[in-house]
Amino acid sequence: MSDPDTSAASLSGPATGTCESCGGEDELYLVQRYYVTPEAWDQEAKATPADIERWCFVCRTHYPHQLLESDDPGDAEAGASDAPPA
Ligand SMILES: [Zn+2]
Repeated sequence: MSDPDTSAASLSGPATGTCESCGGEDELYLVQRYYVTPEAWDQEAKATPADIERWCFVCRTHYPHQLLESDDPGDAEAGASDAPPA
């Protein structure tokens, strides 16, 4: 029992917990949610930054967001950010 416990000290990788979007148990990533407003007759399409939350993989594939930590191995095509253009 002399080895230091480094597993809990790692802040760079995904942590397992409860997703703040769907409530599921999974590896979580820190993201900033975006609210997307579709284009309409009286307004342009826009993406508004919202809360910073921890999301699971499924939610990251379903909802617009920007990844705030780590890389994004589950969504490599989108690069570091899935946020739509402002
Ligand atoms: Zn989720």
